[in-house]
Amino acid sequence: MAVHLRKLSSYRRIVIKIGSALLVNQKTGLRSQWLHSLAYDIAALQKTKTEILLVSSGATALGRALLSYPSQALTLRERQSCASVGQIELARAYSNYLSPYGVRTGQILLTLADTEERERYLNARATIKKLITFDVIPIINENDTVSPNAIRYGDNDRLAARIATMIGADLLILLSDIDGLYTLPPDQAANATLIPLITKITPDIEKMACVSPSNISSGGMKTKIDAGKIATNAGTAMLITSGKRFNPLQAIDNGNPVSFFCASKKPMNAWKKWISGHLDPAGKVMIDQGALTALLSGKSLLAAGVILVEGHFLRGDTVAIIDQDRHEIARGLVGYNALETRKIAGCKSHTLSTLLGYTTRTPLIHRNDMVMWNSV
Ligand code: GLU
Repeated sequence: MAVHLRKLSSYRRIVIKIGSALLVNQKTGLRSQWLHSLAYDIAALQKTKTEILLVSSGATALGRALLSYPSQALTLRERQSCASVGQIELARAYSNYLSPYGVRTGQILLTLADTEERERYLNARATIKKLITFDVIPIINENDTVSPNAIRYGDNDRLAARIATMIGADLLILLSDIDGLYTLPPDQAANATLIPLITKITPDIEKMACVSPSNISSGGMKTKIDAGKIATNAGTAMLITSGKRFNPLQAIDNGNPVSFFCASKKPMNAWKKWISGHLDPAGKVMIDQGALTALLSGKSLLAAGVILVEGHFLRGDTVAIIDQDRHEIARGLVGYNALETRKIAGCKSHTLSTLLGYTTRTPLIHRNDMVMWNSV
């Protein structure tokens, strides 16, 4: 086994994301033998006192198989209906396969708003944490039956990362259809090599993700790397591996290929974890070199350092802070709305009250409301 990856039983709390293609065969339905082998591994791992949470896809695929629905693209209502039929079977299957080992399960279905709105996020977190204290394994999925196309996760990679940071997991495992992150698409380039260890998600790593395919999940490798950014930045290590083998957790301990993403060592409080995991920032502000230096030394972002403002956002929304090469270097909760931000961009702090017509000393983004990305 690679030195950076410890035995799974040495982790305190692990979130495991399971992709649709591992669980469901479009023609025959549930891949029961595989699920049986996963249940065996989960029960064995739980016995070692490692806390486990599952984020499972497969509701739509299973519903589709059960309804013998043709393999064309689904309309929103068809997708939601398939998910409705599939989810109930999925939950039943987990419960049926795990209960013989004495493992209890609880279902949690979340919408995007349940993680993006602070109150709802805290509510979901409290329930999930309570389930863990009961030794129950939460089986989590997006609430696909009510999530509209435009406002949803769509892929469970990022949902799993959000859950992992929400409950302070020390490892996130993405069971995929590919061994990990390759330098080039492995099915097209003979010289493609697997990257076993990623200490930082740099722009180069992100570029590799754009060309490296994964057929199994809605997002492919791109959303897996996005998940990696959310997880590692908040202190959760991440591992991508192929879950196609039977007993996929034992396979990890037995040294099968993986890509392991190291967690950031910088401690981050719960508030900042919530900010850094936000899925879609409402806008972007581009900053100059002086502001970048200030941010790197732990200062707040002042309007004076902003050279461009994009998007429509309200005060308190999450915005991305980008450098002049358009790399996102931080994100945070903005102290002014988009209109005001455009007015004060590039202006010295003492002029803001006059420009805005009310007295203010608020920085554009306060350092307590800001999270720097690990790659900076
Ligand atoms: N939530 C979706 C489902 O259960 C799957 C999303 C994904 O493919 O990651 O069908």
